[in-house]
Amino acid sequence: MKVLVLNSGSSSIKYRFFDMAGETVLASGVVERIGEAGSGFVHESRGSRQQFAEAVPDHASGFARIMELLGDAGSPDAIGHRVVHGGDRFRAPVQIDAQVIEVVRSLVPLAPLHNPANLTGIEAAMDALQGVPQVAVFDTAFHQTMPPHAYRYAVPARWYTGLGLRRYGFHGTSHAYVSRQAAAALGRPPGELRLVVLHLGNGASAAAVRHGESVDTSMGLTPLEGLVMGTRCGDVDPAVFGFLSRRAGMTLEEVEQALNEDSGLKGLCGANDMREIEDMAAAGNGQATLALDLFCYRARKYVGAYAAAMGGLDALVFTAGIGQRSAEVRARTCDGLEVLGLELDPARNARPGELPAAVHSDDSAVAVLVIATNEELAIARETVACLDGSR
Ligand code: ADP
Repeated sequence: MKVLVLNSGSSSIKYRFFDMAGETVLASGVVERIGEAGSGFVHESRGSRQQFAEAVPDHASGFARIMELLGDAGSPDAIGHRVVHGGDRFRAPVQIDAQVIEVVRSLVPLAPLHNPANLTGIEAAMDALQGVPQVAVFDTAFHQTMPPHAYRYAVPARWYTGLGLRRYGFHGTSHAYVSRQAAAALGRPPGELRLVVLHLGNGASAAAVRHGESVDTSMGLTPLEGLVMGTRCGDVDPAVFGFLSRRAGMTLEEVEQALNEDSGLKGLCGANDMREIEDMAAAGNGQATLALDLFCYRARKYVGAYAAAMGGLDALVFTAGIGQRSAEVRARTCDGLEVLGLELDPARNARPGELPAAVHSDDSAVAVLVIATNEELAIARETVACLDGSR
């Protein structure tokens, strides 16, 4: 079975085409700047990379061109779409039909930037390939197992009942995939384990995964809550809105935009690439050192909180760009977690080698794992499982 995975943004479509027999990647690429000047493609297949600058006026023409480029790699038997927000309607991937599209559309107020873009991609692919089954895989679905005390905010109850204002959590496909990988790496059934997964990329989130289910996560109503991120603030006092309105005359939209785009690591030290920040800190830049400290301190607080929430911790898992590649972030995050019986092995942490890798000391009561996330493969697997009814 060949599965095409699509991740449609407002002006881009990322794609990866899998042969699920051996889970090999047949082709992959991205269409960029759809509907804008300078649009084009990057397409990779069989080890060769091609770049095309060409007009791509809309998602439908972008998708048609992807199908052409896949060419002799074959045509997809199924398509898996990444959809950011499934609200509390979707606890699992679902085969897309007109009704599913309407429900995803009804969730637009919860994800005004992402769901419309995801829908545009879905509609382009559904129109073009009518006989091919297509599946929506939601970023929020894995966290639907959170109990109310984790997903509710302490705000007027009618905001929840009337407007759906609650914590949803994101990066769920990654947290689910990585926690299964962690159980496999430990050689234990997921049902026995209490894990904290730190997905540290440009966006960053922590998840508490007990017995294979998400019981808490750091992102909330939107992906702004929680950990310090590349350009997002993570946890702040919600009173900053009133404060900045009164003190700086900023509008709600301006504050919201600044918290999403000009905050986090970038707000603290001007850079949001962790490699650059580590270099700046090593060269004595105090703001970069502070940014690094704050990033790791926040992550460490969540690990402690989630260990308490689950009544213990069997493994801490680092994943995504920073989690997989930054030994320094892992070391700083774990520094202080000895209180949980967790002990990092400095040499293993510095050179984890091939992933998955264990980087704790032989005496550590808590395993520390570095695991490569693969959201596209996870979506492809979920697509197959959804269609063959095994999920
Ligand atoms: P996204 O959320 O966009 O998918 P990624 O998971 O690709 O992000 O992670 C991007 C982040 O990973 C960037 O901050 C980048 O600096 C960081 N990163 C990549 N390689 C390294 C490295 N070798 N050391 C430290 N950070 C790294």
